[in-house]
Amino acid sequence: MSLCGPGGQSNGAAYELHLAPRDALILVDVQQDFCPGGALPIDGGDAVVPVLNTWIAAAVEQNVPVFASRDWHPIDHLSFTRSGGPWPVHCVQGTPGAAFHHRLDLPDDAVVVTKGDRPDRDQYSAFDGTRLEAGLRDRQVQRLFIGGLAQDVCVRATALDGVKLGFETHLIEAGTRPVSSDQRWRSIAEMREAGVIID
Ligand SMILES: [Zn+2]
Repeated sequence: MSLCGPGGQSNGAAYELHLAPRDALILVDVQQDFCPGGALPIDGGDAVVPVLNTWIAAAVEQNVPVFASRDWHPIDHLSFTRSGGPWPVHCVQGTPGAAFHHRLDLPDDAVVVTKGDRPDRDQYSAFDGTRLEAGLRDRQVQRLFIGGLAQDVCVRATALDGVKLGFETHLIEAGTRPVSSDQRWRSIAEMREAGVIID
């Protein structure tokens, strides 16, 4: 594969895959429950999968590390409505809904980043209380490419933290979908304002 990806095949818009050494690909919560048919379905959530698979293929080709975060909640998690939180029960540890999307081509050496696994704490950002930053520093990563679900919640929080931590942070816009469609552009504007590069 060349560095320039097959623009237009997945999302109708040309885009370039420009991965290089010291980059990392971060896939946020591409899980069954966030896709149509799941417990907390995001409109078009599964449409991110072919886009991100193209990025994964480029990452494997370029020997760029792939990190995949997952929401991994205990059954009594505080974010669930029955515990007084904002969300329906979703991504319960070990359930099919918590699995990565079955068509996501995660490489065998992808680093899984688990979050939201304590009952008393939610973690929207894949950096929050995880070893993601350490994993990136260990690999001397300087530049992040982030996609996944949901654009306006966990992807947003992860991208904002990426900038705060000093990484050059890119959003793979075609590889995200928001849980609230009316938040899509507001969230993009906020990320751009913070220094995230919107690809
Ligand atoms: Zn959650």
